[in-house]
Order: sequence, then structure tokens, then C-alpha cells
Amino acid sequence: MITTTIKRMQNNIHGKWVDSRGTEVESIPNPATGETIAYVPISTKEDVDLAVQAASTAFDEWSLVPVPNRARYLYKYHQLLLENKDELAAIITAENGKTLKDASGEVQRGIEVVELATSTPSMMMGDALPNIAEGIDGSIWRYPIGVVAGITPFNFPMMVPLWMFPLAIACGNTFVLKVSERTPILAEKLVDLFYEAGFPNGVLNLVHGSKDVVNGLLEHPSIKAISFVGSEPVAKYVYETGSANGKRVQALAGAKNHGIVLADCHLEKTVQGVIGAAFGSSGERCMACSVVAVEEDIAEEFINLLVAETRKLKVGDGRYEENFVGPLIREVHKDRVLNYINIGVEEGAQLLVDGRQPENQKGYYVGATIFDHVKPDMKIWQDEIFAPVLSVVRVKNLQEGIDLTNQSKFANGAVIYTSSGKNAQIFREKIDAGMIGVNVNVPAPMAFFSFAGNKASFYGDLGTNGKDGVQFYTRKKVVTERWF
Ligand code: NAD
Repeated sequence: MITTTIKRMQNNIHGKWVDSRGTEVESIPNPATGETIAYVPISTKEDVDLAVQAASTAFDEWSLVPVPNRARYLYKYHQLLLENKDELAAIITAENGKTLKDASGEVQRGIEVVELATSTPSMMMGDALPNIAEGIDGSIWRYPIGVVAGITPFNFPMMVPLWMFPLAIACGNTFVLKVSERTPILAEKLVDLFYEAGFPNGVLNLVHGSKDVVNGLLEHPSIKAISFVGSEPVAKYVYETGSANGKRVQALAGAKNHGIVLADCHLEKTVQGVIGAAFGSSGERCMACSVVAVEEDIAEEFINLLVAETRKLKVGDGRYEENFVGPLIREVHKDRVLNYINIGVEEGAQLLVDGRQPENQKGYYVGATIFDHVKPDMKIWQDEIFAPVLSVVRVKNLQEGIDLTNQSKFANGAVIYTSSGKNAQIFREKIDAGMIGVNVNVPAPMAFFSFAGNKASFYGDLGTNGKDGVQFYTRKKVVTERWF
């Protein structure tokens, strides 16, 4: 039994904050200090039932609200999110640990998806073709699918939920959200602002928890589609189980993103780009650059500058501007990362920058770490470490860099640094990754494009956002009509 003033979080069912039916809770530490800042309920399947019932009831009326009117609620929501930007970023930093600068960037990227969702009246349009046979017209109409569930990871507590519910709801669906039990606090604010924007009760419901809630959603007959973002094994499980239960599933999974640095790159800008991509958000990004293949001709020069610039990065509490690398999400994740660094040393990679002993030991800190002479048979090359740990491999040329990158089981993002348009074109054609960058740090697409990887980084067909998102959250009717 908890006897403290620290907040115990609640679920939101039909627009009301209510206690979970379960008794289990988990404490939420601030990763920068280790202090408990909230308790999250580990809800039960009964809680899932209540949320799905609320969403099903709300669907009957919400799906009939004209599309432009649905979009108008989102204008109001957009405005409220803008007005609360600073508070939203501060909550992200407190529960996730990323720096305020990274958190503000995340808030912005989340808001951009709400902007996208306001254009649903155009994006939901079908197609029509008159006179497909004598006196006959053909057309395609799009409709909402029903109750949709979203299951999200800890590393983007704002952006990833916003990849899902605004667009799903704008398309006329109602929603049950299950955010990460490691970063549940921001969702409360997202839901409060949602109802402040005037949406009818039950259109968005929030159930906190872990596996049982996920399984409850995957099994529930009234859930028509599941949007999932998280680690690879769970994405695969969610995809297989949800599909077996007859649901539409998009499951965005883990990653190991590669950069290729060619001898003709702009050296200083490339080094800054790789540092931002590898160590920003403490490497806890699905689009983090965690391997860089550098052409031999430039390798020494590139690595010397990379190491010198990396050594300048400060590690510490993300609230303070001078810190670039914030804490990792939990002590157990920190231990896992330290273990990976030890493995890298044992595997024979050369540890150029060692982040194992940053000054501030109170939170879950690991500093920026660089290995050189990494080989593709090493675990540190293969596995997603999800931390500020960068592996450098040396390659003879672009082709070797591409061949090596394509050996990865993951294929989320990949970036090339070059001043040659021809090399960039070859890279674009031959690299196997869902999201590709040329001379950019993190090739995360803007909201009006779709977002998803290939290979083990994605289970499903349609990605999130953009036209894919609208297709995922709607079903079609093709009409062939003749009038006498
Ligand atoms: P995670 O897989 O541990 O958790 C994601 C969600 O799944 C959470 O809501 C969690 O409660 C639930 N979950 C966890 N274990 C489960 C289980 N055994 N059964 C059912 N549900 C379970 O992921 P995480 O650690 O929170 O997030 C980091 C991972 O997410 C990384 O692998 C990262 O690459 C990935 N990610 C991918 C993308 C992308 O676009 N591909 C975006 C962000 C994060």
C-alpha cells in the first residue's frame, strides 16, 4: 500500500479519470536523479474492457460527425498543444531524461502530426471514374474502421502517441491508447488537452499498464486495428497475435541505423551530423545512427575530429542547457549498455571514447562512447544497443559500405555523407532502408510522408503518418453504379 503524496496515475475512460481495477503499481523514477515522481497502475483486462466499451459507444456518433467538423476539433487541440509546448517538453525531460532541447524538438514533431490530421477532409477523399461502362460510374469511398488501439514505447512519449490517435480520430475512429509504463505521465496531459479541445467523451481512452493490457487489446473482438511502436521481439509478437485475431496491424520495430561517410563529404558538418544522430537523446531513438562506415581515405581524419568533438559533450541532467547527453531510461538499461561496452572490448573493437564512468553517478548515465575497427560479426555491430554507443567500421568504397549495411537484420534508416550526387543516387537505389538521408543527421520523415522501416524494423504493410496513415485507419468501399 502506498502512503505518499506522490501522484498515483489513473486511466481515462469515457473522458473521466478513474482508478484502475487492478492493485499493482510501478514507480516512475526521474532518470536524471532516480527519485520517484509518480506511480503508474498496471491495469487489467477488465480495465481494457471498460475502455473498449467506452470507445465502441462513442464510435456510433463520432463516426457520423462530418469530416470537416472532426478536423475543427483538431484545430483547437493544435492550438492548446502550442500553448502548452514548454510544459509538455518539461514533462518529457522529467520522465524520459532526454534534454529539454531534444524534448522540445519532440513536442514540435508531435504537433506536426496534428497539423497533418487537420487535412483529413482532403486526405480521406476517394476516387471516382465516370462512364466505366455504358451508363455506369465507378468510385471508391473511405470509411472509419471502428475502435483502434495504440501501444507506444518509452523513447517518444509525445511524438509516437501523436503518430496514432489524431489521424485515427480525424478519420472517424475512436481510440484506446496504452503508453509505455516507463513514461506514462505525458499522456495524461495529452488526454487533458484533448478533452479541453471539446472532443466528445469516449473518443480517446487511456489505459496504463504492460503486457496484460497489450494482450487484452490484441484479443478484444471490438478492436479493429492496432498501431504498435516498440522493440523488435514485441513488434513481431503484436503483429502475429493481432493478425491471428483478425486485426489490421502496423508494428514499427527496433533498428540499427547506419551512416556511410565518403571521402568527398564536408568533414566538419558530417562529424556534427553523426554526433547529433548518434548521441542526441542519449541514442535512445529508433533513428539513431549507431554504426558509421567510413571510407578508408578519410578514416583517420574523420575519426580524429569525431573523437575530439565527442569528448566535449557534457553528460548530465537534461534540464540544464550545458548537457548534451542525458540519462538512460532505467538502471537496468544502463547495466545492459555497460555490458555491451564490455562485450565490444572483449570482441576486439578499439574503444576510443569510453562513456562508462561519467562524472554524475546519481541518475542512469552512460556517456558518449565510440568503438573503432568494429566488424559485422561482433554483437556491438549487430544488436540494437539503444544508447549513446557508436561503432565505426572502415570500408574501401561506397559499394563495400552499402553491402555491409545491407547485412543488418534491421532496415529502418540510413544516411550517406557525400558531395557527389551520383554517389547519393547509387546509395538511394541500392541501400535497404525504409527512410534514407543524404547529408542530414536523422532522416526522420516529416508527418506528411509515411514513416516505417524494412526487414526486422517493421511488421506490416502501411506505415504511420502521411497517406499510409489515412489508408491504415480507413476501409474502402468500391461502388459500381447504374441508374435507370
Ligand atoms: P518495448 O517493446 O519494451 O515496449 C513497447 C510497448 O510494448 C510498451 O507499451 C510496452 O508496455 C509493451 N510491451 C513490452 N513488452 C511486452 C510484452 N512482452 N508483451 C506485450 N507488450 C509488451 O519498447 P521500448 O523499450 O519502450 O521502446 C524502445 C524500442 O522501440 C526500441 O527498440 C526502438 O527502436 C523502438 N522504436 C521504434 C520506432 C520505429 O519507428 N521503428 C520508434 C520508436 C521506438
